[in-house]
Amino acid sequence: MKLNIRNADTLIVWIRRELRVQDHLALWSALEDARTVAPLYIIDGAFRTASRPRQLVILDGLEELKAALHSLGGRLFLRTGEPEAVIHAMLRETGAAGVYCTNESQPELRCRDQQIRSSVEAAGKLWKEFKDRTLFDEREILSKSRSEPFTVFTAYKNAWTSRQEEIPPPLPFITHVRVPDITPGEMPAVSVPAGIFREQVRPVGGEREGVRALKRFLRNGVDGYHEERDRPGNDGTSRLSHHLASGSLGIRTAYHALAEASAQARGLARQGPEAFLDELIWREFYHQILANFPHVAEGAFKPAFDRLDWPTDRSYAEAWQNGSTGYPIVDAAMRQLNTEGWMHNRCRMIVASFLTKDLHVDWRVGEGYFMRMLADGDVALNNGGWQWSAGTGNDAQPWFRIFNPTLQSKKCDPEGAYLRRYVPELARVPAKYIHEPWTMPPSVQAEAGCRIGREYPTPIVDHARERARTLELYANVVSGARSR
Ligand SMILES: Cc1cc2nc3c(=O)[nH]c(=O)nc-3n(C[C@H](O)[C@H](O)[C@H](O)COP(=O)(O)OP(=O)(O)OC[C@H]3O[C@@H](n4cnc5c(N)ncnc54)[C@H](O)[C@@H]3O)c2cc1C
Repeated sequence: MKLNIRNADTLIVWIRRELRVQDHLALWSALEDARTVAPLYIIDGAFRTASRPRQLVILDGLEELKAALHSLGGRLFLRTGEPEAVIHAMLRETGAAGVYCTNESQPELRCRDQQIRSSVEAAGKLWKEFKDRTLFDEREILSKSRSEPFTVFTAYKNAWTSRQEEIPPPLPFITHVRVPDITPGEMPAVSVPAGIFREQVRPVGGEREGVRALKRFLRNGVDGYHEERDRPGNDGTSRLSHHLASGSLGIRTAYHALAEASAQARGLARQGPEAFLDELIWREFYHQILANFPHVAEGAFKPAFDRLDWPTDRSYAEAWQNGSTGYPIVDAAMRQLNTEGWMHNRCRMIVASFLTKDLHVDWRVGEGYFMRMLADGDVALNNGGWQWSAGTGNDAQPWFRIFNPTLQSKKCDPEGAYLRRYVPELARVPAKYIHEPWTMPPSVQAEAGCRIGREYPTPIVDHARERARTLELYANVVSGARSR
C-alpha cells in the first residue's frame, strides 16, 4: 500500500543516534510532513549494555534534547522495552501515520529495522529512513568502471572528494515543534558500574557541547592539526568522536564549518583542514565498508585471514587490558582508555597492533574491549580500525606492517609527557629511558623509584621475537591462500 505522507496528522521520529534537534533530517522532514511529531527515544538492551562512558554521553544528549525540544514547544518521549513492541505501542497511542528514522550501516541493526519496517507497513503505516549519519551512503560512491564499492581508501577518497559539490548545506533551523498530547516517559539511569573510570575527565555529550567543541577546534586547533594529530601528549585533535558517534553533532554541520575554515585558509594553512577532512572521509569509508561488506562485523574483511591462528592465552589479553604489559606507550594508552573512556588515535593503532601482532590475541577480543570502554564506540570505525591494525582489513599497506611500540613511543611522545601522565610509576624515570625503562641500570631504577619487575612490570614479550612469529603466522595463511 502506498501512503501519502504529506499532511499526516502525526508522525513518530524514532531517534537512535541523532541526539540533536538541529540539522536532523528525520525530525526536520517529519515537521514538514505532519501536523504533530512525536520524537521518541527507546531505552533498549543496547543502552543497558553500552559502556558507562557511552551511557553517560547518551544521557547528556537526552537531557539536552529534552530541554531543547521543550524550549521549542515540543517534548521528548522516552519509552523502555524492545523496539518493535515499543514502536507499535507508540503508533497505537498516537494514531501516527508512520515512523521516520535515520538509516543504519550496522548489519544487525539493518536486519532489525527491516523486520520492524515490514511489521509497520503490514499495519498499514509508513516507514521512512533518511541518510543522516554520513554525507554519502554506501550506494553513492562507487567505482566508475564497475559500479562496485571501493575497498581501498585512496581510490574512495578521490571519488568522494570529486563529489563534494553535491553535499547539501545544513538544514534550516527548527524553531517550533508541535507534539501530540501523550505522557513523556522517564529518563533512564546509568546502569553500568564505574570501575576505575573517572567521570570528572570523561567526554561530555549533548548538542550544545558538540557545536561548541566544533567551533573551538576550528578556531584553535585545525590549523596545526596535520602536525599535532599524532602527538597524544598534546590536545591536538578535535575530540568530536563521541559527538559524531552519538549524533549530538550533525555531519553536514561539521563538514560545512570545516569547508568554510578551509576556504578562508591560504597555501600551507590549508594542510590542517585538509588533513582533518581526510579523517572525516575515513569515517565515511568505514561506514560504507560495513554496509557493503556486512561479513566484516563477524570476520576478516579478507576471508583468508579467518584462518589465522591466535595462539595466545587470556592472561596476555588481561595484561593488555589493565595496562600492565611493561611497554609504557601501550600501558599509558590502555590506562587512558580505562579511566577516561577515550584514547588517542595514534595510540589506538599502537595498542591494536600490539595486541594482535605482539601478543597474538584475536583482533575481535580487542574490538569487543574497545566497544565496552569507549565513549565514542562506533561499530563501523572500531571494526575498520581493528581490521586495519590486525592486517585483516581493506588496507593498501601489506599485512606485514608491524608497529614497533618503542619506536612509535619515541616518535609520538618524545619527552614522555603522555607516558608520565598515565603511568605514574614512570613519573621520575629520566627521558633517556622512559620509552624502554627495562634498559635502566639498577641504580637509576632505584633513584627513579621504578624497579622493573617490582614497581613497573618487566616487558611481557620481546617485540623482535614476536614480530618474527607474526610474520610466520601470517605468511602461512597467505601462502596457503595462494596455493588453493
Ligand atoms: C583500533 C581503532 C579503533 C577505533 N575505534 C573507534 C570508535 O569506536 N569510534 C570512533 O569514533 N573512532 C574510532 N577510531 C578512529 C579514531 O581513533 C577516533 O575517531 C579518534 O581518535 C577520535 O578522536 P578525535 O575526535 O579527537 O579525532 P580527530 O582526529 O579530531 O578526527 C575527527 C573525526 O574523524 C573521524 N576519524 C578520525 N580518525 C579516524 C579513523 N582512523 N578512522 C575513521 N574515522 C576517523 C572521527 O569521527 C573523528 O571524531 C578507531 C581507530 C582505531 C585505530
